Amino acid sequence: MQVLKFGGTSVASAKNITLVKDIIVQKKDAGSLIAVVSALGGITTQLVNASLLASSGDEGYLKLLNQVEQKHIKTVQELISVKAQSKTLGKVKILLNDLEDICRGVFLIQELTAKTSDKILSFGEKLSSTIIADFLNDSGINSSLAQPQEFIITDNNYGRANVDFGVTVPKISAYFGEQLPVYICPGFIASSKDNQWTTLGRGGSDYTAAILASALNAAELEIWTDVSGMMTADPRLVRSAYAINEISYEEAMELSHFGAKVIYPPTIQPALEKSIPIRIKNTFSKEDAGTLISANASANGQLIKGLSSIQNIALLNVSGSGMVGIPNFSHRLFRALSNAKVNVVLITQASSEHTICVGIDASDISKALTAIESEFAFELSARKINPVEVEKELAIIALVGANMKEQVGVSGNMFSVLGQNGVNIKAIAQGSSERNISVVVHEKEVKKALNSLHESFFLSDKRVINVFMIGVGNVGSALIEQLRKQKSYLSTHHHIDLRVVALANSRKMYFQERGMDLKEWKNKLEHESEPMSSELFLQKMAELNLRNSIFIDNTANADIASVYNGVLKESISVVTPNKIACTNSYEEYLNLKKTALKYKAKFLFETNVGAGLPVINTLNDLIKSGDEIIKIQAVLSGSLNFIFNNFNENTRFADIVRQAQEEGYTEPDPRIDLSGVDVKRKILILIRESGLNMEIDDIPSRAFIPKECMNAPTIEEFFKKLEEHEDTFQKMIADAKKAGKKIKYVATFNKGKAETGVQLIESSHPLYNLEGKDNIVLFTTKRYPEQPLVVKGAGAGAEVTASGIFADIMRIANAN
Ligand code: ADP
Ligand code: ASP
Ligand code: MG
Repeated sequence: MQVLKFGGTSVASAKNITLVKDIIVQKKDAGSLIAVVSALGGITTQLVNASLLASSGDEGYLKLLNQVEQKHIKTVQELISVKAQSKTLGKVKILLNDLEDICRGVFLIQELTAKTSDKILSFGEKLSSTIIADFLNDSGINSSLAQPQEFIITDNNYGRANVDFGVTVPKISAYFGEQLPVYICPGFIASSKDNQWTTLGRGGSDYTAAILASALNAAELEIWTDVSGMMTADPRLVRSAYAINEISYEEAMELSHFGAKVIYPPTIQPALEKSIPIRIKNTFSKEDAGTLISANASANGQLIKGLSSIQNIALLNVSGSGMVGIPNFSHRLFRALSNAKVNVVLITQASSEHTICVGIDASDISKALTAIESEFAFELSARKINPVEVEKELAIIALVGANMKEQVGVSGNMFSVLGQNGVNIKAIAQGSSERNISVVVHEKEVKKALNSLHESFFLSDKRVINVFMIGVGNVGSALIEQLRKQKSYLSTHHHIDLRVVALANSRKMYFQERGMDLKEWKNKLEHESEPMSSELFLQKMAELNLRNSIFIDNTANADIASVYNGVLKESISVVTPNKIACTNSYEEYLNLKKTALKYKAKFLFETNVGAGLPVINTLNDLIKSGDEIIKIQAVLSGSLNFIFNNFNENTRFADIVRQAQEEGYTEPDPRIDLSGVDVKRKILILIRESGLNMEIDDIPSRAFIPKECMNAPTIEEFFKKLEEHEDTFQKMIADAKKAGKKIKYVATFNKGKAETGVQLIESSHPLYNLEGKDNIVLFTTKRYPEQPLVVKGAGAGAEVTASGIFADIMRIANAN
C-alpha cells in the first residue's frame, strides 16, 4: 500500500486539487494507494475562529461560516461535472448544515467545550475528503472515501488526542485489507473509544498518514505540500533557504519540534519505528527531488542540517538559594507542569543548581505559574524559592545537525555570529543528544538571527550586507556608482550580496528592504521617498533590524555625526568620510570607539585622512604591532596642494580656488580648507589614532588668507574678497619663486606637539615634488627612525574618496 498526504495548500482550490489528481493518477499504476487529505487551505483556522466567535456570543461567526460554505460550493462547481455536481453539493450541504447547527448551539449557550471544538474542526477534513473522492470518481478514477473514525482510535484528550495503537493498528489492517485501488482518507480526525470525534492536533494530517503507513508497512510515506522539501530554514523568514536532500529521523524530529512547520512533529515516530522513509514533495513542482527522511540519511559532509524557530515563548526563571536543599526539586517542578498540561519546550539549569529556567508557550504562562505556586507554596512562603520571574516576547532558535557533536566550536561560532549582529542571548540549551543547540532571543531578533546564522552555516549561500547611506552628493553618488558596477563581481567572486537598503539626502529618504536597483536610485529618491529626518532614518533602520548592517555618512554634517553613537549601539557599523565625530572632544572620540567595541560594530573612517589612501590603516597596523610614532610630517589637503601647484604669476588665486571647488577637491565651503581647519582635523585624527590625547585647540595654525576674506558672510562674497587680495597672494608666490622653493600647507607632529600652516619647501625635501592634488604622509617611528614610512598619492576627489569608503565597507563585509 502506498500512503500519500496532501496538505491544505495542495487542496486549497479546484485548480490545486486537479494537480493532486494528476499525482494520484501517476502513482496508482504502482499499486493501491491511500491519499490522506487536509481541509482546504485556511478552513481549519476559519472554523477555529468561527467557534470562538460563537462561544463569545458574537454573530460574526455566521459570516465566517458563510465564507466556508462559499469556498466549498465554488470548489465543487469548478471541479465536478455538471451532471455529477448536485449529488456532491447535496452531501456538502448536509455537512455544512450540521456544522451550522453545532455552531448555533455554541452561540446560544455561549460555551465551547474541547469536545465540541473538535467536532466543529472535524468538518474541514470531512468536507475536503468528500469533494475530492467525488471528483476522482467523476474523473473516472475509482475511489472510496475512508472513514477514520472506524480505525484511528484515541483517548479523549480533545484538541490533541493520543492514539491507542494497540486498537488502531489491527483496525487499519482490517479496514484496508481489501486493497481497493484508491482510498481518499480525511486526515487530522479520529474517534475516541466512546465514539466522539477527536482531532490529532493542528497540522495532524501528516500524523494520520504516518499512522496508516506504519500500520500497513508502506514502503514509503509521501508528504505532498507547497514547498520542495524540508528546508534549511523557514523559507518565510530566510529567503535563501533551500531544500535539504537527506535528513535523519532524529534531525527531522528536532527541526519540526523547534518549529519547522512542514512536518507535524509526532509524524516521525511511527515511521521511525518501522524504518519507513518519509519523502517530502512539492505538489506544485513535482519534479523537484524533495527531502528524504530516513534512518541512514547521508550527511553530505554537512555539519548543520537546518535552523528552526518557535515564537511566542516565555521563560520562567525559578531560582532561590534554598533550591539545592529541596529534595526532588526538578522532578516536582516538571511533574507539576506536566499535570497542568504545560508543554516545556526548553530547559536550562545553571551549574550552581540555584536556577532552573524553562521555556514554555506564552499562552501557558498563567497555567504554569498556578501549578508552580501551588506545588511549592511552602517553599515560596519560607523564601527558599524566589517568586517566579517571567520573561515574555521571546523566541527559541535551534541549530540542528547530528554531526555537530564531532566538531568543536559550533556553539562558539553560533554565539559569535549572533553577538556580531547585536542579538542578545537570554538562555542556551544543548540537548544531551548534541544534535541541537537552542538559544532564546527576543522575538524581534528572530529574522535577523536566522538569516545571519543561515549565512554563516550554509556556505553555498551569499552573505548579505545591508547598506544605509546618508549623503548622495559628489562622494555619495560616486560610491553608489562603484557599488553598482561591482555588484556582480562581489557576488560571484566573494559571495557577497551588497544591498543598498536606504538612501537619503538632506530633504528626502528612500527605503527598500530587499535592496534597491542602483540604476534607478535618483528617480526613487526623488519620487517615491518620504521627507528626511535623521531620527526617523535611524528608527526605520533599527526597526528593519537587518543583519550585517552598515551605516554610511557621506555628509560633512555635524547633526549626522552626532547620531553615530546611537547607531553603533544597535550593533550597526559606521563608515564615514565625515571628520566631525573624530575631531569633537577626545572624550567623545574615545566614547565612540568604546561603543563600537562593546556592541561588536565597526567604526571606520579611513577616508578622513588622505581620501582613499591607506593612511589610517597603515598607522593602525604600526600601532597594533607595537611600533611608536615619533614624528608625522604631512601634506594633508589635496585641495590646498592643488591650489599651490596650480597658482602662479599667470593665474589668479581666486580662480584656482574656484576650480578646486568645482572639481570637488574642497569641502563644500572652501574656507574649511583654506583656513587650515580641515588639515588640523586630519592631523588631530592621526595623533589620536597614534594613541595620544589631544584636542583641536591644542593645534596652532598659521593663517595665510587675510581675515577679511575669511569673515565674508557668504561663499560668493568670500570669492570676491579673494579677488580683492590678489596682490597678497601674488607676493607669496613671487617670494617662494625667488627662494627656489615651493609653497606647501604642512601639518607636523613632533615631540608631542602639532602645528599646521604654509611652509616654503626646498627642492631636496620629499614634500617638494607633490603633484596635483596629491597627499603625502611621512611617519617617522621607532621602526622607521631614519627613512620615514611614506604614504603618497591622490588625496582628494569624489572617486578616490568613494573607493576608500568602499574599502571600509569591504573590511566589514570580510571581517566576520
Ligand atoms: P501543509 O498544509 O501542506 O501541511 P504546512 O503549511 O503545514 O503545509 O507546512 C508547509 C509550510 O511550512 C511551508 O509553506 C513553509 O512556509 C513552512 N516551513 C516552516 N519551516 C520550514 C522548513 N524548515 N522547511 C520547509 N517549510 C517550512
Ligand atoms: N486541517 C488541519 C490543520 O489545519 C490539519 C492539517 O492540515 O494537517 O491543522
Ligand atoms: Mg502541515
